[in-house]
Amino acid sequence: MVVESESEKVIRRLYQITNDYQKGFDIQVSQLIMMGLERFDLDIGILSHIEGDKYTVLHCVTPEGVELNIGDTFEFDKTYCQITCGSFGPVMIENMGESDKYATHPAYQAFGLESYIGVPIFIDDEIFGTLNFSSAIPYPRKFKEIDVDALKLMASWIEVELIRRKQEERLQQLNARLEYQAYHDTLTGVANRRSLFKTVHLDIERMKRAGGKGTLAIVDIDHFKLVNDNHGHQIGDDVLKKVATAIQAQLVESDFIARFGGEEFVVWLPERALEERRSIVEKVRTCVNSILVDGQPITVSVGACEFDFSSLVNQQCNKATLDEIIHIADDNLYRAKDAGRNTTVRSCWSEPI
Ligand code: GH3
Ligand code: MG
Ligand code: MG
Repeated sequence: MVVESESEKVIRRLYQITNDYQKGFDIQVSQLIMMGLERFDLDIGILSHIEGDKYTVLHCVTPEGVELNIGDTFEFDKTYCQITCGSFGPVMIENMGESDKYATHPAYQAFGLESYIGVPIFIDDEIFGTLNFSSAIPYPRKFKEIDVDALKLMASWIEVELIRRKQEERLQQLNARLEYQAYHDTLTGVANRRSLFKTVHLDIERMKRAGGKGTLAIVDIDHFKLVNDNHGHQIGDDVLKKVATAIQAQLVESDFIARFGGEEFVVWLPERALEERRSIVEKVRTCVNSILVDGQPITVSVGACEFDFSSLVNQQCNKATLDEIIHIADDNLYRAKDAGRNTTVRSCWSEPI
């Protein structure tokens, strides 16, 4: 028979808990605290977070009758952990009341806990908090080296896990930022071309099945090159931002605006009556007139493609793609430019025969 030494037992148990990561950090920490209580023969176990003078209970296991809850806060100076953090290492006290050093400590005065073993937890060389175990009953034996070793092992795992979680959180934030940047235009903040092709393409496919209708309009700033040439790129950029903001203000939540290219935007207006959509397109065209450069209003030309898919319901239709609709709108935009600019030209998508 293999007789397991005390330290082997501690390590095996610790491994079982820490390896069981499917349970999640919170359950693992609770199990770790439970293991500590068993190991040290104490009845209050706490993982704390310390910030300035605030000691917060992050996890705790307590016996019946001891009112302590997650989220409870205490003045740090009135906890034994103040001793632990001050010593930057493990602290063991078997009989607080008999200790010349600690009997006068405010924590003893406040809580009357007789026995205590705790260790600081560090993240990035700074104290994060403590892992500590205590009891109102004096400790009948001396804490042993193996107790300290076990405590240090538990704390190291918590340290590594907290750091990992912090890094994971940073990574998630970074991912969210990257995803945002991948689908938004950095200058104007509206959706970019990639986002347009992803969102509107899916919308069109859905609308073909449902017999939906809508309008896609391409909006192009008139003589924008002159703004750059006469006033510089910076003013040009400001105008682009203002145009995007002004157009967006005419739209509702289900509409969509994307920067299609240099000084061109695509406006997507799904559903609603044709007249309503036409009125929005006209507002989009005229709203930019309030943006002045050298006292002159900015104007735009608009090419629109209107569509009604009611004839396509329940048909397997490979036509009426986003590309096709954009193509029609683009042709109309050129007509609007040819017609002298600051105007809208529109036509309907019709099912090819
Ligand atoms: P039209 O009325 O025919 O549309 O004339 P236009 O001058 O607006 O059109 P053109 O295509 O000749 O010029 C577009 C200009 O937009 C040229 C380009 O330098 C400028 N542009 C494209 N992207 C940006 C940008 O991000 N910032 C600035 N400031 N200018 C840009
Ligand atoms: Mg253009
Ligand atoms: Mg232009």
